[in-house]
Amino acid sequence: MAQTPDPEKHKYVSSKAALFEESVIRKMTQVCLQHGGVNLAQGFPDFPTPPEIQEACIKAIRDGHNQYARTWGAPSMVEALAEKMLWFQGMRIDPGSEVTICCGTTEAMIASLLATIDPGDEVIVTSPFYENYGADTILCGAVPRYVTLHPTPGGFEFDRDELAAAFTSRTRGIIVNTPNNPTGKVYSRDEHQFIADLCIRHDVLVFTDEIYEHILYDGRTHIAIATLPGMAERTITIGGLSKTYSVTGWRVAWAIAAPPITAAIRKVHDFLTVGAPHPMQVAGAAALRLPKSFYSDLARDYSRRRDMMWTGLKAASFTGHYPEGAYYIMCDVTPFLRAGEDDTAFALRLVKEAGVATVPGSSFYSPPLLGNRQIRFCFCKKDETLADAAIRLRQWTECNRP
Ligand code: GLN
Repeated sequence: MAQTPDPEKHKYVSSKAALFEESVIRKMTQVCLQHGGVNLAQGFPDFPTPPEIQEACIKAIRDGHNQYARTWGAPSMVEALAEKMLWFQGMRIDPGSEVTICCGTTEAMIASLLATIDPGDEVIVTSPFYENYGADTILCGAVPRYVTLHPTPGGFEFDRDELAAAFTSRTRGIIVNTPNNPTGKVYSRDEHQFIADLCIRHDVLVFTDEIYEHILYDGRTHIAIATLPGMAERTITIGGLSKTYSVTGWRVAWAIAAPPITAAIRKVHDFLTVGAPHPMQVAGAAALRLPKSFYSDLARDYSRRRDMMWTGLKAASFTGHYPEGAYYIMCDVTPFLRAGEDDTAFALRLVKEAGVATVPGSSFYSPPLLGNRQIRFCFCKKDETLADAAIRLRQWTECNRP
């Protein structure tokens, strides 16, 4: 993600828009299509949406939910969300004053930031980070302060002194993404408590991205930081339908926050989008009321996919970090790089030669150079797709041994 002024900027393009480039994640999907490759770049499922969720949407359309929904969320959707947050996280939320239904967590995050951040405010972002946060901070005039998630044999960890030192008198908030994209890290209760203590001490906000809240492995459980003492009033809890229910194209998500913050988010959201798709919200209410077994089945299926991907990567001599949650594996490709080749050139070579699309690691760092020896694989795919990718990678590495 470029964050320096573009000298080639067209006279009609704003300085803000010139400060960042189009999403590399989404661009790699287009590159993959050109080469007829297997898309392990952009994180969306290639398996079908559960039939009962599809049917609920078709029914919602037939039942006439085809005009604007209430701008901040259809009644059935916000009520179902409040019910679910209660059993899932023990969060008691008022659907009338503490929820905004948005067009994807992408909009939930930018609307939340625009509603609470003034130009020049600092926002702490752990790095590597999901690329949208870089553009989000630029769009709302914030100054991002990156804190490194260090790779360790036990997983990715932030240094507590480094995180504490990132809080200044200008800090307005911190973005916390757990389970984490792209590292696969799941924050522990202790880490959450450490972040919460800092936020309370400095009286700042937490913007959470909990879109992978049900995709955790090896018995781990998700903790919403808003449930820690003193955090509900300062946390904007963001989640959505996309990943849990395999409906990334529906664009339905939520931002949960205390009433005064929600009132501001709702205004921004209204003028940005008017509202999220109505039939998808009505169907979302049905999805949110699925039995608890749905979530254990989901985690079990993703655990199998993780292990297929891991085994395939190992067999092809790729090394990375075994994820604790979410559905990505970051790999260090240093042994494969030709002289002068960076992550982007390597990812383009891999899609052309092996027919497997990935995301260059630099898209997750600022400055991008920090990630120029890594690529990200996603594994939210059918078993056949993962098996096909494993064969392609293995055949490719046989001719390109590190
Ligand atoms: N979150 C997914 C990823 O990181 C999809 C991103 C997107 O294109 N919205 O790949």
